[in-house]
Order: sequence, then C-alpha cells, then structure tokens
Amino acid sequence: MANPRRLLRLRNITEIARHTWSRIWPEPMPSGWKVYLVRKTVIQSVHGRQVCGVTLARSKTILVGRNTGHYSFETLVHELAHLRTLEEQIDHGPRWQHEFNSVARTTLGSELARHI
Ligand SMILES: [Zn+2]
Repeated sequence: MANPRRLLRLRNITEIARHTWSRIWPEPMPSGWKVYLVRKTVIQSVHGRQVCGVTLARSKTILVGRNTGHYSFETLVHELAHLRTLEEQIDHGPRWQHEFNSVARTTLGSELARHI
C-alpha cells in the first residue's frame, strides 16, 4: 500500500518554523507543534480555494501550501502569527495584524518574498 506521507508529499519544516519564530519573537515557539509543507490542493480541498496555509490548534499542526502563487515563506510567517495570537477571536484581528505586519514584516522585510 502507498505511504500516505508520500501521497500528500508532506515535508516537515518544523525546524525552519522554529528557527524563523526565534528570529521574530523573544519567547520560544510553543512546544508540541508540527509544521508541514504540503501541496496547496491538499489545503484548498478542505479549507477553500483562497487559503494558502492553515493553523489547526486541536492537532497542533500548521500546514503551509506549496505552489500557491504566494510565497511559501510569507505563508509560513503568516501562520506563525496565527499561532502567536491563537486566543484572538477575530480572524486577522488587531493582534494578528500587529504581530504579522509590524513585528514580523519589520524583522524580515523583503526576505518574506522567497520560497522555502
Ligand atoms: Zn490567516
């Protein structure tokens, strides 16, 4: 039988995520989280066509879509800002906006516009 990991073409990028987080925020990234790069169709079939990444709090998993037309690294940082503001009720609310647009974008600048 085919290996489901191969079918989904998951790539574990947790180390890249942790390293990226540590460059942006002083506190360590919450423990137990796994971050995967997957084909965008895997995410979009479940979460909708416009979605490039998703943060799943219950399974402590972040999925970052590949080949989304957006840059993968920016999507990763976008989702890390969600992880940073999990308790915020509004999607892309003021706390998320601050962490992503002020803190992360200021720290990483044009580096956001690259692929993983
Ligand atoms: Zn988002």
